[in-house]
Amino acid sequence: MENIYDLIIIGGGPGGIGSVVEAKVLGLKKVLMIEKTDNHSHTIRKFYKDQKRVDKDWQGQEVELEGNVEFVDGTKESTLDYFDKLLDDEVIDARFNCAVEKVEKKEDTFFVTSGCGVDVAKNIIVSIGRMGKPNKPSYKIPLSLRSQINFNLDKCGNGEKILVVGGGDSAVEYACELSESNEVALNYRRELLTRPNPTNQEMISKYSEDEAVVLELGIDIESIESEHGQIKVNFSNKSELFDRVVYAIGGTTPSDFLKSCGITLDDMGEPIFNENYESEVEGLFVAGDIVFNSGGSIAIALNHGYRIVTSIIKRKK
Ligand SMILES: Cc1cc2nc3c(=O)[nH]c(=O)nc-3n(C[C@H](O)[C@H](O)[C@H](O)COP(=O)(O)OP(=O)(O)OC[C@H]3O[C@@H](n4cnc5c(N)ncnc54)[C@H](O)[C@@H]3O)c2cc1C
Repeated sequence: MENIYDLIIIGGGPGGIGSVVEAKVLGLKKVLMIEKTDNHSHTIRKFYKDQKRVDKDWQGQEVELEGNVEFVDGTKESTLDYFDKLLDDEVIDARFNCAVEKVEKKEDTFFVTSGCGVDVAKNIIVSIGRMGKPNKPSYKIPLSLRSQINFNLDKCGNGEKILVVGGGDSAVEYACELSESNEVALNYRRELLTRPNPTNQEMISKYSEDEAVVLELGIDIESIESEHGQIKVNFSNKSELFDRVVYAIGGTTPSDFLKSCGITLDDMGEPIFNENYESEVEGLFVAGDIVFNSGGSIAIALNHGYRIVTSIIKRKK
């Protein structure tokens, strides 16, 4: 086994990129990043609308950056450009179009099986995010409506009547963006939108005052059904027809994947880890959104990379 990496990072989102940068800056020599899709930052590319404002303090969480990545407020495009630059500058080994399937530890070495074969490392960071499987509502989605029920804005057109469901920053941003060329309502089961950050709170208040977005707050959706090709949304207090429904309700924990990496999960199916984000298996770490059951952010994911790499280096000494 001539090619043993000091660290293999699974997932090329902010958690993975932060880990790559810290590994190089802090002095881990042989590092490999493995990403399932054809480029880094798949969640940003797929779920952020073009020109989206990217807030460092996402979901109202003020985060101080601890490591060597100078991430600041910007846009989808400036964030991707910055990450391009970090990866280009850092000259790391990376594999794209390569989904990791499992991680096995034998003695003190990890074997990572992906679509590209088996790679071997002394430490592993799993940072695959949650948006591989966006959260879906508990009620049934009729088969005939599948193309009108979405989890990002890719299929949205102009002149449609659209319901956005969710109470966080992404739901607010989706609703306001769509309202530029569509009739939009925003539904959240609670009475108040408390989760969005101050900028988005201000934005949604203005859009609501201007009647650009209709707020349907404190109302549950009980079911949806097809009516002459439209979506009939049955709220707890009324029914209404929409052309499209966009759910922005976060993503699920990739429990099966975590288990196939040997990461122990708690009773809620969430990974168990210590203050350095190390799982119960020594040398096997979790970073980014999979660390939380909700509420991760780019800056938080970058900090995980710093904390983990620092602890790997300390242990090496
Ligand atoms: C609509 C929306 C708007 C947002 N806006 C902001 C914002 O303005 N500011 C902010 O700070 N945060 C924002 N966030 C949150 C932010 O995007 C996440 O917190 C961040 O992307 C988490 O990074 P991550 O590396 O943990 O996961 P991800 O970004 O999800 O990256 C995971 C990567 O792992 C890859 N992967 C998955 N499975 C495998 C596998 N088996 N093998 C190899 N690779 C795999 C994926 O393709 C992906 O590239 C937003 C989120 C959404 C959905």
